[in-house]
Amino acid sequence: MTVKPPYDLLFEPVRIGPVTAPNRFFQVPHCNGFGHLRPRGLAAMRGMKAEGGWGVVCTEEVEIHPTSEISPAIEGRIWDDRDIPAHRLVTDAIHAHGALAGIELVHNGLHAPNRISRLPPMAPSAAPVDSSDPLQARAMDLTDIRNFRRWHREAALRAKAAGYDIVYAYAAHGMSTLMHFMQLRHNQRCDEYGGSLENRVRLTREVISEIKDAVGDSCAVAFRFAVDELLGEEGLSVEGETRDIVGLLAELPDLWDVNVSGWANDSATARFEPVEGYQESYTAFVKSMTSKPVVGVGRFTSPDAMVSQVRRGVLDLIGAARPSIADPFLPAKIRDDRIEAIRECIGCNICVSGDYLNVPIRCTQNPTMGEEWRRGWHPEKIAPKASDDRALVVGGGPSGLECALQLGQRGYRVTLAEGSSALGGRSLLESRLPGLSSTARVKDYREGLLKTMAGVEIYLESPLDSDSILEFGFPHVFLATGSAWRRDGTGRENHRPLRGLERLPVFTPDDIMAGKLPAGGRVTVFDDDHYYLGGVIAEKLADTGCDVTLVTPALTVSAWTDFTLEQDKIITRLLEKNVELTVRRNIAEVLPGGLRLACTHTGRTEDLEADALVLVTARDANDALYRSLSAEPDRLSAAGIQSLQRIGDCLAPGTIANAVYLGHLAAQNFQDEDWDTALFRREMTALA
Ligand code: ADP
Ligand code: SF4
Repeated sequence: MTVKPPYDLLFEPVRIGPVTAPNRFFQVPHCNGFGHLRPRGLAAMRGMKAEGGWGVVCTEEVEIHPTSEISPAIEGRIWDDRDIPAHRLVTDAIHAHGALAGIELVHNGLHAPNRISRLPPMAPSAAPVDSSDPLQARAMDLTDIRNFRRWHREAALRAKAAGYDIVYAYAAHGMSTLMHFMQLRHNQRCDEYGGSLENRVRLTREVISEIKDAVGDSCAVAFRFAVDELLGEEGLSVEGETRDIVGLLAELPDLWDVNVSGWANDSATARFEPVEGYQESYTAFVKSMTSKPVVGVGRFTSPDAMVSQVRRGVLDLIGAARPSIADPFLPAKIRDDRIEAIRECIGCNICVSGDYLNVPIRCTQNPTMGEEWRRGWHPEKIAPKASDDRALVVGGGPSGLECALQLGQRGYRVTLAEGSSALGGRSLLESRLPGLSSTARVKDYREGLLKTMAGVEIYLESPLDSDSILEFGFPHVFLATGSAWRRDGTGRENHRPLRGLERLPVFTPDDIMAGKLPAGGRVTVFDDDHYYLGGVIAEKLADTGCDVTLVTPALTVSAWTDFTLEQDKIITRLLEKNVELTVRRNIAEVLPGGLRLACTHTGRTEDLEADALVLVTARDANDALYRSLSAEPDRLSAAGIQSLQRIGDCLAPGTIANAVYLGHLAAQNFQDEDWDTALFRREMTALA
């Protein structure tokens, strides 16, 4: 099949040193929570990207030696030859679909507390490790440096033996020894590896050259380099030294993989970097300084933006981590002229949270991500229907939409009834809050496909009650009726309703999203939820001119957003908008004109003036329909209803990712008698 212009440009092969990428789609290294512990899951996930058309598929960072290990994070390992077979699974899975396999070798230096190996961390100069461990790294002496170079060379040889086509040296995200040597703030050496820029780049030059010597006959050598740390004069920057660094190394690697640092900037969420290609202003100069191909990222999901990058000489290869997670088949869909079927990344970083929490990667948009091996799920294929039965899905939020879509893909005839005038549920409502517009993509993708499916009927403005459901008599009913934020303050911290709530106007996130806002004045947002919503609502109210205080019983603001790389940015933004932040305080009582707060440690109280209170605490499942229907099994069977189940927030309120997942799971398990015998395969330690 020939690809239509202008997108044919994206399917041109690109020569990278001794290897050739079959097209310009390049899955850059990304962490995933499988790593060295779950190689089968890892191989199946990477293989899926190759099947979906990514011409190059890379590993996550792969530790080259036990002096660099960041347990309990589960990264790759290539410490010795015993690691090779697990990597073989990965390269075989990638090669099976004609893609190239890349490996990102890493030595984390200052960033590696070595909690398992218990070997002293190493760095250019002695300093505390950059985790919170009470531990310091020692300065590397010249013997350490010789060893460090040898470990890279040996790891590269093992990578070649494992079948990799591209071997990386890594100086990005502030996470690697090579980068630490370049950073003045981490390198105070007085020998030939410190001082002048040339000296600070020496180790990188040696490592890239030695990897080339070792494996360059058949493997390309890539260099991943952060061109800007967004720290101004404190860090490496385009305005400062990184142009010179690129100049010094220009033709040495076979491929430049360039980005901004740290990880929170490179993988910025859509809330903080809404525009596709947001790294261009930093990375664009690199191509003018080297004849070697350049790959870069920017949450690219639109083929026009990709073509523009190549045409304008910004990038040769379109790098993607998150867009390849949200849609492993993105390249294939462009190739096959199915652009409308692309499942666009929403930039929420739920994928990152999996890595942070040391569990297999998950994704809001792609519920099959991380489930390729253990459940055998495929992002584009699902088992055909097991009967000609019809199904009714009540509620068109993320969970109902996903369930209806997958049932429809299986070939079931599905009726989707939504009470309001639009599909999307919370993905639509939340998309109207500051910075969250891309959340609507959860709805857009599903709604777009559902509307093309012959077997699916959608009814808007159709709030169903139990009588109408019984009257319709669909044999199978899925209730995706969502949840509602509590108005009484109960949640994690308070197990009984707050006292005195009648004394102040009280709002919930549902009110705010419905456009019902406090009249102005002093508003307290009480956040006992700890994810993004409390902070977003505080931001919205500050934008409308309220004098906002965010109170939380947690130790810090929007605590869970640490796992999505957003917390620092959220706090900065709230402070910039003059939101007062009060942590470790609970509401003891609501007073006329204010709140009595209590310290969560000592119980000491203080009063805070307020004209209105927004409670972001917990949600109640909207399961009244379920309770009334399931209470009358005789009426159900008389109506011909064989199965009735709750999905999404109606079952267990959680993230949008969770609701999509539960909708998908229900559709996968539908009419499968054995769904609960072996929930999923497990990678188990074998006792030899
Ligand atoms: P989830 O995240 O689980 O998908 P949402 O709250 O986002 O849940 O979506 C629930 C959707 O269900 C909303 O769009 C809401 O309007 C709709 N809904 C709730 N109750 C009914 C009902 N009885 N009949 C039809 N639609 C309903
Ligand atoms: Fe994108 Fe969110 Fe999926 Fe990550 S979890 S790939 S940010 S949609």
